[in-house]
Amino acid sequence: MGVPPRAGGERAQADGRAITFTLDLEDHRPDGSAELRYPTVMRRVLDWLDERSIRGTVFVVGEVAEAQPDLVRDIADRGHEIALHCWRHVPLTELSPAVFRDETTRAKAMLEDLSSAPVAGYRAPTFSLVPSTAWAIEVLGDVGFTYSSSVLAGHNPLFGWPGAPSRPFRWPNGLVELPVPVAGVGRFRVPYLGGTYLRVLPRPVVAGAQRLSRSDVSVPWTYTHPYDFDPDEPKWAVPDAGRLSPLLWAGRKRLFGKLERLLGDGNRAGPPLGERLSAADAGPVFSPSAGEATGSGRG
Ligand SMILES: [Zn+2]
Repeated sequence: MGVPPRAGGERAQADGRAITFTLDLEDHRPDGSAELRYPTVMRRVLDWLDERSIRGTVFVVGEVAEAQPDLVRDIADRGHEIALHCWRHVPLTELSPAVFRDETTRAKAMLEDLSSAPVAGYRAPTFSLVPSTAWAIEVLGDVGFTYSSSVLAGHNPLFGWPGAPSRPFRWPNGLVELPVPVAGVGRFRVPYLGGTYLRVLPRPVVAGAQRLSRSDVSVPWTYTHPYDFDPDEPKWAVPDAGRLSPLLWAGRKRLFGKLERLLGDGNRAGPPLGERLSAADAGPVFSPSAGEATGSGRG
């Protein structure tokens, strides 16, 4: 057994290194005929976390919760925070405000029922909270979310919000935003602590980016998906990824080892995101229509 999670998280937070483990629980199979692997892989990840006394935040897709209710109960029973990753795994750019409101309300209630706890956090698929989908902020506040981790502050080949603060901030309706930690690559900012970047970038590059961004990120978190831990998944062609498709499989074998280095056998892991909001409370207010943040920034 490692260090008790609270003690470890608090100690790590005190010296500003605590990285919270987060995972997006989604079914990324191209169609329903492919082998169902994520429930088994997810339980392997949960065992790994248990062995290190790490509690994190799991953002669950509503359709996944409907298909695998026992898995969601298991995650909650093991002490992790359950949060929402949209009802369906599509970017916000493909949803209307009315559909988003209906689906999000329904998904939040379902997750609260399964986890017997309030669901406070929301993450947009592929960080698709961008200026054109800013309507989602009001919906998330209305539906009762406390925080979001849906913004990539800067230019990115996929989705990004140039001009948004890279440190935690508040939207005008009070919703706290915990932006994905990013580091610069040319004119782009990439989320080096998650997904393909975390798997593919050499460990010294990740460590270097972490050092550079430390002053910028008061609530750092890593993000993963079940498939990131699944080297044996049969390969398929990812739509729109073309020749980059193999990148989705690269580095999967090494991910547990990389996380072990980042989280230090659990003693450098922070608590679930919902328990770290006080660190973001004094953040600036950023208005979607304004280009810059105002208010009481924390340096
Ligand atoms: Zn996702």
